Amino acid sequence: CELTIVDTGGFIAGDEFSEEIRAQIDMALDDADIVLLLLDGKRGISPFDHEIAALLRTSPKPVFFLVNKIDGEEQEIHISEFYQLGVETLFPVSAEHGYGVSTFMDQLVAGLDPVEPEAESDSDVPPIRLAVVGRPNVGKSSLINRMLGEDRVVVSNRPGTTRDAVDSFCFRNNKCYRLMDTAGIRRKGKVRRKIEKFSVIKALKGLERCEVALVVMDASEGITDQDITIAGYAYDRGCGCVLLLNKWDLVSGQPDAFKVFQREMQIRAKFLNYAPVLTLSALTGQRVQRIFPVVDEIHRQYSQRITTGQLNRIMQEAIERTPPPYYRGSRLRFYYATQIAAKPPRIVCFVNHPGAVHFSYRRYLINQIRQETRLDKVPIFVSLKQRESRRRRGMR
Ligand code: GDP
Repeated sequence: CELTIVDTGGFIAGDEFSEEIRAQIDMALDDADIVLLLLDGKRGISPFDHEIAALLRTSPKPVFFLVNKIDGEEQEIHISEFYQLGVETLFPVSAEHGYGVSTFMDQLVAGLDPVEPEAESDSDVPPIRLAVVGRPNVGKSSLINRMLGEDRVVVSNRPGTTRDAVDSFCFRNNKCYRLMDTAGIRRKGKVRRKIEKFSVIKALKGLERCEVALVVMDASEGITDQDITIAGYAYDRGCGCVLLLNKWDLVSGQPDAFKVFQREMQIRAKFLNYAPVLTLSALTGQRVQRIFPVVDEIHRQYSQRITTGQLNRIMQEAIERTPPPYYRGSRLRFYYATQIAAKPPRIVCFVNHPGAVHFSYRRYLINQIRQETRLDKVPIFVSLKQRESRRRRGMR
């Protein structure tokens, strides 16, 4: 039996937080199959426990009420006051010492429906992992709903996923796509600023596991600093990236709208100049399906392996075409390059004086590799490593 346990992080009692608490509880209830309310058996019942118990009673999902810090049978007496919450069954447990936990777990498991094993994909090919990121209100949840369409939504409860990860899957042209951490984004409802911020951070967590990031922006509002920051996270994470100008239905009448955006992105997010830009409308569905072939191509490039032979040929030619500058009277020597990882492509190049290789020369080499390997839509990382060699001849 596999379970995913999501810790809501705890709720702070007090009136001024009540809206946030509500929103957090709603989120937790939305995501969960079963809810556990952990009460503090040492402190005793608090007014907040009444409130939350009342709220949970309205939930159609099974709720288990646990009274923690009950270290043994002799302390079970302390749980009686919690029956005031109108609960039929209380489970005394000690999270620290394990008392009562197996009894509770037996009950919990007994109530579970057997879950049919969810194949991630019909084929053996693992799904392409996507993260949809962007600031609040740019249309992420509308887009995800469009992408998922009528597809079956599968909640991931596999071990090894981060603990509050709830992913959705969709299928196009016999390919499976896994949208990371979608629960927080798909959820609708009015939430206050603080929670919105929390959900941005939560959404960004999807970047940690994704291969391709869909960075959503609101075309009707133009590019904001926060958009650039979020795009920067995707860049730092080294994932493939598609820039989506959503709400294009609102700006499509403006002449040159796309050119203006392109220019702005080139200036403000130059680091992502390899990322394709798509204009679309999650509201009308216009061009949403175009995302998939673009993602496929990025993913192909992202996973690409360049042979050492090819790589060194490219480097050799590039160095011959534009030789590296002199350093302390002698020319910089590039000895050997090899791809050490894919997803994203990472290349190590051995040089006699790595520190002396100017940023612009490294960029030149990266561009040459891009051009020759046709890896034009993904980040390529080239690191330079020291290699002193008098015997071996360099590429130049
Ligand atoms: P999220 O906070 O990024 O998940 O954004 P939502 O998907 O909740 O969308 C925020 C608002 O923008 C909602 O009122 C949507 O109906 C609206 N919206 C989303 N996509 C589009 C679009 O393509 N065009 C227009 N006109 N409105 C959109």
